[in-house]
Amino acid sequence: MDLIRRLLKPRKEETIRDLIVQPERTLADTEITPIKYGLPKEIESICPECMKIIKATLYPEGGKVWIKKDCEEHGEVRDIFYGDIGLYHRCENLWFGDGVGVEDPPIKKATVCPAQCGLCNMHMSHSGLPIIDLTNRCNMTCPVCFANANAAGYLYEPPYEDVVRMLEGLISQKPVPADRVQFSGGEPTIRTDFLKIVRKATELGFDYIQVNTNGIKMADLEFARACREAGVENIYLQFDGLSDDVYKKTRAMPLNETKMRTIENCRKVKIGVILVVTLVKGVNDGQVGEIVRFAMKNHDVIDGICFQPVVFVGRYAQSHRLEKRYTLADLALDIERQTGYMQAMRDWFPLGVTSSFSKLAAALTGKPSFTLSLHPHCSQGTYFFIGSDGSIKPFSEFIDADGCLKELLKLSKTVKPSSLDLLSKARLFYRLNRYWKQDKAPKGLTLKRFLESLEGFQNRNLRRGLLRRGR
Ligand code: SF4
Repeated sequence: MDLIRRLLKPRKEETIRDLIVQPERTLADTEITPIKYGLPKEIESICPECMKIIKATLYPEGGKVWIKKDCEEHGEVRDIFYGDIGLYHRCENLWFGDGVGVEDPPIKKATVCPAQCGLCNMHMSHSGLPIIDLTNRCNMTCPVCFANANAAGYLYEPPYEDVVRMLEGLISQKPVPADRVQFSGGEPTIRTDFLKIVRKATELGFDYIQVNTNGIKMADLEFARACREAGVENIYLQFDGLSDDVYKKTRAMPLNETKMRTIENCRKVKIGVILVVTLVKGVNDGQVGEIVRFAMKNHDVIDGICFQPVVFVGRYAQSHRLEKRYTLADLALDIERQTGYMQAMRDWFPLGVTSSFSKLAAALTGKPSFTLSLHPHCSQGTYFFIGSDGSIKPFSEFIDADGCLKELLKLSKTVKPSSLDLLSKARLFYRLNRYWKQDKAPKGLTLKRFLESLEGFQNRNLRRGLLRRGR
């Protein structure tokens, strides 16, 4: 009787949390503390005044998530941590577990994060997109400069030989070579040996070379062409909006025309563009939708948008901090409201969600693969697909994302490299096809084409845009 009752009892549906394999130690043999789920919860934070590591509490109030921390010396700080409690839980439930870091990290005895910051034994992720600052000089003087360019009072510009050593160190990282790099600054393109550095990265075998730039030098077509020939695949273009009144506030000069010329040059020489929007509440948050639409219209050259909300911390008055607080939840809801292209609660994901595909790729190839295992509240976004009729849809409109992500995790535990034979491939395809809604997909997109576009994430030759642009 008892057995019958147990068999009849409805089974609790498996969640992603039930399926992930959370590692216990990094490759450099340091214990990993996994994230805690739910609210309220105690976490570690830092005092914005003295930078001491102190305890903090995350708790819900008024539909948002708040943080409260108390420094013995500098008193209590309360702030909005995340702007929507529903989205907060959604992203937390889409956490795919930590990575295991790198073998033989340069810092081996770190014990307190972030006190001994660098690539250390406590690091749980391998290097996703390492950034090399080539200089702290710049050909602009923006009031919002994160890099404090030109104002530091000293020159930072590692010699060419040191940059080459950094590149060699990255590409020989194990188990996943860090073969993607972003050159940043200051303004990296103003170095006289900039192209020589890019050529060296290409020669060393870097798969993806990105340049973080204000775009002023790239507004010269010949320089843009030289960058492409040296091996630049993509620029991470400072792009705060579509009107000069925004640039005058954020960059103290009109720049709209320069940005347009740079994008046009990239189109001509076949360099991809990611628009990087420094978002300041009250200055350009009203242009979020317009920027998304601009990117869609120019999707032949624009690969994506990275919105970076400015966070006011430290000595700003609490009233100013709360008035200006703009979190990734606010961004998601603004994209929903200002474009109508997505529904935040269905289509907004932590970036780490891509690790489900990476885990399957690793299982199929038998090799560790490029995996983004970052914290679920660190980077978030969505992927849009554009149909041959111009329709724009987030991928979760035509895929049962929850079911598909769980299926990928299950597959990554069972498939073997031998699963790449034709019959096994067909079985894999059949299992994923259960989550595909062809009637909702953008015109011209099939599951096969969708999977090919994902393969581009790992495979340079298949990467989105390269085929289309003949790069
Ligand atoms: S362009 Fe970038 S690096 Fe240069 S001053 Fe402006 S924010 Fe700083």
